[in-house]
Amino acid sequence: MPVLVMKFGGTSVANLDRIRRAAKRVGVEVAKGYDVIVIVSAMSGKTNELVGWVNETSPLYDAREYDAIVSSGENVTAGLMALTLQEMDIPARSWQGWQVPVKTTSAHASARIEEIPAENIAGKFAQGMKVAVVAGFQGISPEGRITTLGRGGSDTTAVAFAAAFGAERCDIYTDVDGVYTTDPRISSKARKLDKIAFEEMLELASLGAKVLQTRSVELAMRYKVKLRVLSSFEEQSDAAGTLVCDEEEVMENRPVSGIAYSRDEAKMTLVSVADRPGIAAAIFGPLSEAGINVDMIIQNIAEDGRTDMTFSCPTDQVARAKKAMEEAKSSGDINYHDLIADTDVAKISAVGIGMRSQSGVAATMFKTLSDEGINIKVIATSEIKISVLIDRKYMELAVQALHDAFELEKAG
Ligand code: ADP
Ligand code: ASP
Ligand code: MG
Repeated sequence: MPVLVMKFGGTSVANLDRIRRAAKRVGVEVAKGYDVIVIVSAMSGKTNELVGWVNETSPLYDAREYDAIVSSGENVTAGLMALTLQEMDIPARSWQGWQVPVKTTSAHASARIEEIPAENIAGKFAQGMKVAVVAGFQGISPEGRITTLGRGGSDTTAVAFAAAFGAERCDIYTDVDGVYTTDPRISSKARKLDKIAFEEMLELASLGAKVLQTRSVELAMRYKVKLRVLSSFEEQSDAAGTLVCDEEEVMENRPVSGIAYSRDEAKMTLVSVADRPGIAAAIFGPLSEAGINVDMIIQNIAEDGRTDMTFSCPTDQVARAKKAMEEAKSSGDINYHDLIADTDVAKISAVGIGMRSQSGVAATMFKTLSDEGINIKVIATSEIKISVLIDRKYMELAVQALHDAFELEKAG
């Protein structure tokens, strides 16, 4: 039988009624003759609640226990989904990550899937089971401990199963009906895309568009998984959603295809460091060793042999970054007058593979922000994206202005 993977996110399994709706969708595919692997998230809000309990109990928590706790939301929805399907006379059972087993690295809270042996589930399909409901987001480490894959990780579970089982397609059911030119919650002019290239989706995801977890797009690209994003709320089950596919299949040809934003970025400035050879290595070496994901960097003009060095990193790594810098200072490796953390910033990015061949994108972006009176604090570019750091209070305005400037509401 051909295999289909269907993933339901938090809002799509938020209560028993939603679970029944999702199960009906699964029933439609079973009736078409598929063996279905259903990946479920925790009920919406559940994982946040669990993370909150962990932080309240133990601010410097043991990451192994964090994973044991925050993975539990998915166990509940997996069992409920299996029961709902059984009530519809569809042979189904639930699987927690360790039962499959979903083998991962031991990097707790951000583990990577290493292997998903297909035998157990394939064996059950061979015996007549129609649906395997698997708890997303979780796996088991070589040490036998429960791991989680990072927030939004159920998307990655879904794509990894699609790859492991050679599924015909991996359908990601969520609360929007596809991938848009920007977050439809921020801009009412956002336009749904019929298709988006893997590379663009990868950039958008890593720059903040949380509709798909970055790692899931990476896996889909590597293993050529046919990946689709669609709504679990729409009545008709043939709605096409958005297909994430190879660049050649995308018809649109424009410099920018989407705008992403991220609130989770902080700007750190080391005030007055010595402007000497090796200074960047002396700063960014210790940051890297401390596991800080440094994104953007600027070194200001030097005066009297001293300069300011600015970098950005995720907001939740600010404390660790400070500690690493203080340690480097006290060991004499670097010297600075002050370390200023600005957490009231947001990163806005324009993404498009058309940028490779069309110029002027940066100029349009800077002019648009300037016309709105928005000051740019840091800039970073790569082949297919331009990102800027701005004051958080202008985030929505910036997204909307750029969406207008690149005429993304119009199909091109
Ligand atoms: P789920 O719980 O189903 O995994 P998520 O909340 O993780 O859902 O992802 C869906 C959300 O992603 C949407 O509700 C939307 O607000 C947000 N989003 C951000 N950028 C985009 C985009 N470019 N296209 C569609 N949705 C986006
Ligand atoms: N429940 C997890 C989270 O909220 C994983 C997911 O939904 O993908 O991050
Ligand atoms: Mg998600």
